[in-house]
Amino acid sequence: MRKNLLTIGKDTPIERFYGVGEKRAEAFHKMGVFTATDAVYRFPRAYEPRGNVKTTASAEDGEVCSLILTVAGDPKSVMVRKGMTITKFSAFDEDGNCTLIFFNQPYVKDQASRGMTFRFFGKIKRERVGVSMTNPVMEVVNGIGVLRNLVPIYSLTAGITQKFMGSVVREALNAVRSESGGLAEYLPDEMRRRLGLCGVTEALSMIHEPRVMEETVTAIRRLAFDELFMFALSMMLYGKNEKVRVSEPYTNFDDKGFMESLPYALTGAQKRVFEAVALDLRGGSLMNRLIVGDVGSGKTVCAAYAVYLALINGKQAAIMAPTEILARQHYGELSELFGRMGSRTALLVGSMTAAATRKTVAALAMGEADLVIGTHALIEDTVMFRDLGLCVIDEQHRFGAAQRSALAKKGKETHVLTMSATPIPRTLAMVLYCDTDVSVIDEMPPGRQKVDTFLVNESYRERLNGFIKKNIEAGGQVYIVCPAVEEEEKLVSESGETLFKNEIVSLGEEAEEKPRLKAAVDFAKVLSEETFPEYRSAFVHGKLNGKEKDRIMNAFAAGELDILVSTTVIEVGVNVPRATLMIVENAETFGLSALHQLRGRVGRGKRKSYCVLVSDSKTQKAKERLGILCQSNDGFAIAQKDLEMRGPGDFLEQSFGKTRQSGEFDLGIASLEKDVKLLYTAFDEAKRVLAEDPDLSREENELLARALKDRIFKRQNVLI
Ligand code: ADP
Ligand code: MG
Repeated sequence: MRKNLLTIGKDTPIERFYGVGEKRAEAFHKMGVFTATDAVYRFPRAYEPRGNVKTTASAEDGEVCSLILTVAGDPKSVMVRKGMTITKFSAFDEDGNCTLIFFNQPYVKDQASRGMTFRFFGKIKRERVGVSMTNPVMEVVNGIGVLRNLVPIYSLTAGITQKFMGSVVREALNAVRSESGGLAEYLPDEMRRRLGLCGVTEALSMIHEPRVMEETVTAIRRLAFDELFMFALSMMLYGKNEKVRVSEPYTNFDDKGFMESLPYALTGAQKRVFEAVALDLRGGSLMNRLIVGDVGSGKTVCAAYAVYLALINGKQAAIMAPTEILARQHYGELSELFGRMGSRTALLVGSMTAAATRKTVAALAMGEADLVIGTHALIEDTVMFRDLGLCVIDEQHRFGAAQRSALAKKGKETHVLTMSATPIPRTLAMVLYCDTDVSVIDEMPPGRQKVDTFLVNESYRERLNGFIKKNIEAGGQVYIVCPAVEEEEKLVSESGETLFKNEIVSLGEEAEEKPRLKAAVDFAKVLSEETFPEYRSAFVHGKLNGKEKDRIMNAFAAGELDILVSTTVIEVGVNVPRATLMIVENAETFGLSALHQLRGRVGRGKRKSYCVLVSDSKTQKAKERLGILCQSNDGFAIAQKDLEMRGPGDFLEQSFGKTRQSGEFDLGIASLEKDVKLLYTAFDEAKRVLAEDPDLSREENELLARALKDRIFKRQNVLI
């Protein structure tokens, strides 16, 4: 027992680390770090290139680099005012002098003295009076310890500094590498050799302590593979919807009444979905079908068809949408359609009065309502059905896996139809949804207008405002989307670029850089009070409560507002035919598929509609990316390009929603992978392993099984 306590290893609690007291432990817990393993799985988001050594002569103004300098005179501190000291000294190299300035770091005085040599890392200021650096990182050059050339920068939380995080990670690395309690390699040797992947502890060492940038590439490949491989395994092991036999396949397929009630002719793609759905329901096992189709491609009618078949076979059906406004919109359309056919439709959303809720709940339990349309409210325990035969989940990526299955569990034998507006390429859909049947709607109803799309920069602001005016005067409505500023910062590195970029991202101890995005709040205020005081505008964002959000959305949908400023919380599915202009600020911060979906909110009526992407990004890549949107209106082509350009990680996150929120699989570093091939490889390998050992119970897979459990049950918090 005693021995156990002293052993340092992968499970050593963070509290046992040097310098981690109660307060800091709490901060670590907040970041999801409880053990040594958790700590080493928090990857750097960038590296400081401290090995970029210049001299006082060669360093340029504004350059971020290191200077190796010898202190010329003892540092002097002055208190300039209460609570503010400045410590200053001069140092030199063979080319000249440099002044070092430190704010509120009086202890520098005790660290530096005349004749000592340091490596100073920071931003160079070159003026007529000479060269200086302010608040540089200072490391003694004494020939004993080797100074590292690349120093990792971590995403932090209040109470933890970069330096402290660095030292904890170093300690944690030693723990996971320790002989007795360390992290064991869980990938079979043979697989690693075949795929050319380095060892897991080697990868962890290289990602935190790279000697050269190339090592991070090797490390990322291994760690990204792990994530995708575990993802694949968990999909295959737990995400699997086995074909469940049904006791009574549907027998009534007399759909004439339904077909005759349709106000338009179906597209070819819709017909194919109808056929597939009918076939599913006729067969001997439960339907589990995903319909993927671009915004406006006409998925709702496919759901309605499935509902119709369930109803004429004497079953109840439920449709769940992620928001009240969507639920109400479906309710408005479908209650009328089914009403004409003699079926009773009910609504169940959170904002209903207790009495109305009770009435619906009773009607469902008694079988007095045939179809219910609602939000998450449908999965409350109090909701029961007499005989639920089918559930439809709209915008499925907005729900967690547990929520999706909770609804189906309310029936004895419930067919499931899910719908997604993220037009993922077919190959990827097959991989991701393993044995879900996928129907792709790749054809738009006829007569759809192309939404003309333009890319502009800040210099067009005046003209853009003129354009807004013109649209509103012509009777249109305008959406303006600003990237959310209030949303929680992502904990892991944002993108491959950050990690691969061989340059500094942040300086100093606590310098957590925030993207310089427009503060949506200020933007909305200026817009409504100064730019367009004559128009009716409103602002929706994530911090508003659901009721307030819905109230504003409803007002916009009803034409009571001219301009709707929002973060991305506005709903993909909402139909506002009078909206003719979509403006996206800081467009470069969105994925192409996200932008395409935003754009899908206009052009739903007869009027000509436009989408304007505002971006001041100077990079060629951003321009190229956004340019694709200006040229193409085809969601699938755009998705394919997006996938190619961003890699599967980011793409998946988008398709599945914020992983952290939905509680699904977390792809942290895999988003760094530029190549979709690794994803396919991971799925192939998972299939290969499971073909021989279907439940991972063999001895040779013991470590792998444990790593998978650790990952999905502990660190990732997956709900299955
Ligand atoms: P989404 O796939 O985004 O859910 P909807 O089902 O809401 O799309 O359909 C968008 C609009 O297109 C609706 O107004 C619907 O009535 C209309 N629609 C659907 N199918 C057709 C069709 N085959 N021909 C003409 N209009 C259609
Ligand atoms: Mg829809």
